[in-house]
Amino acid sequence: MGDSRPAQHSDVLILGGGSAGYACALRAGQLGLSATLIETDKVGGTCLHRGCIPTKALLHAAEVADVTRAAERFGVRATLTAIDMAAVHAYKQSVVDRLHTGLNGLIAGRGIAVIQGVGRYVGNRTVVVDGNPYTGGAVVLATGSASRAIANIPIGDRIMSSDHALQLPEIPRTAIVLGGGVIGVEFASMWASYGAEVTVLEAMPRLLPGEDDWCSTTLERALRRRGITVKAGATVTGARQNGAGVAVELAGGEAMEADVLLVAVGREPRSAGFAEAGIATDRGFVAVDRRLTTNHGGVYAVGDLVAGPQLAHRGFAHGIYVAEQIAGRDPVLLADQLIPRVTYAHPQVASVGLTESSAREQYGDITAIVYDLGGNAKSQILRTAGGVKVIRRGRADSGGPVVGVHMVGDRVGELIGEAQLMVGWEALPTDVAPFVHAHPTQNEALGEAVLALAGSPLHIHA
Ligand code: NAD
Repeated sequence: MGDSRPAQHSDVLILGGGSAGYACALRAGQLGLSATLIETDKVGGTCLHRGCIPTKALLHAAEVADVTRAAERFGVRATLTAIDMAAVHAYKQSVVDRLHTGLNGLIAGRGIAVIQGVGRYVGNRTVVVDGNPYTGGAVVLATGSASRAIANIPIGDRIMSSDHALQLPEIPRTAIVLGGGVIGVEFASMWASYGAEVTVLEAMPRLLPGEDDWCSTTLERALRRRGITVKAGATVTGARQNGAGVAVELAGGEAMEADVLLVAVGREPRSAGFAEAGIATDRGFVAVDRRLTTNHGGVYAVGDLVAGPQLAHRGFAHGIYVAEQIAGRDPVLLADQLIPRVTYAHPQVASVGLTESSAREQYGDITAIVYDLGGNAKSQILRTAGGVKVIRRGRADSGGPVVGVHMVGDRVGELIGEAQLMVGWEALPTDVAPFVHAHPTQNEALGEAVLALAGSPLHIHA
């Protein structure tokens, strides 16, 4: 293809080297296509450098601090003397660097060309970088998203987005977190573990408003027990820096002060310039059909640019899907509803499929059961509380498949794989209830919940 300019033409030209873009390039390379990745910053994108990976390293250090503080509950005498943030950041960075090196190696190994620079899609399956045009048999837009700012709250210094909060050299004494979504909850949990006094302000009536009500209530109770203040239904009217801290004003006249303010009110697609090039957009998101095709033939959009859950694993899946399609395969269509969600707080929230209210709305007749982790031996050993909620269509003894699983408790994120198999495979509770779970594991809680849903609970109080 493109014999006149062989160096600047590839089968797949990808704008953006984050989770979605690099996954597309890797899969394209594997399928024998030539691929070029254009990246402004570092391959790996938000997830690897400013999102999933560094935050989860910080959250793991937070867990170590929590476990140390609680050591005596397990008969171990230990004292938490200090959290050395420079050392925590060095640990976090070492994880990121190692993964980044590995990723660079993978990309080079698949023969993928990486062009460093700011790319601009100009139509006609062409992206211009530093005045040089690059063309693709197919073009994949994968420029991701950026933290959303809000009016009257200028970002800078002590009023920060998660990008900056990740790099804070010291632990704030007091912190206000604006937004009780995934980012807000994870940072609130982490800062509280590090010893900060934290308040979360959420405009909606509950934390994690997209999750099942029961998850929000259970999480909120657990966070309050940890000393985190949660103000739901709170409308912030403005915020400003004030000497060594920040002052936040709420509707109704209430004012609050803290050392720092984290603004975590969502992320917006980085789609600037696409509409000018003729790409159809909808509220900033690139408009695509079910096959992730834009209104320009041979041009696709993947990841956070596409309206739906903004998750790295959805980006990976989009990238792979599009590469397979370009290679002439017939990949399975992706359903946002089957994408698992995990909030890595203490405790964690993990879910897949429909919430109880959306299942009721969709199917009318449903059965939902909560299995309390109080009955799960491993959770008792870990001294974690929470539960597993499973939802099926129809009646308990004779209804349809499992359509939703929602879990709260430390480490429950690791249980999401089995939950998503059930929901994705549309398993009947009786299909999966006979599977024996290793004892003692937290997986048993999921097994018990499904047994109850199949009409034969074992360790459950009626
Ligand atoms: P979010 O949409 O999850 O949450 C933002 C929250 O802010 C919402 O609950 C919203 O009601 C609230 N809000 C909005 N405006 C407000 C205002 N003026 N005052 C008070 N509250 C307000 O967004 P996020 O937490 O910023 O995360 C961004 C994206 O990144 C999400 O899509 C999320 O899924 C993703 N992410 C995922 C993970 C993970 O999977 N563990 C971790 C971090 C981020």
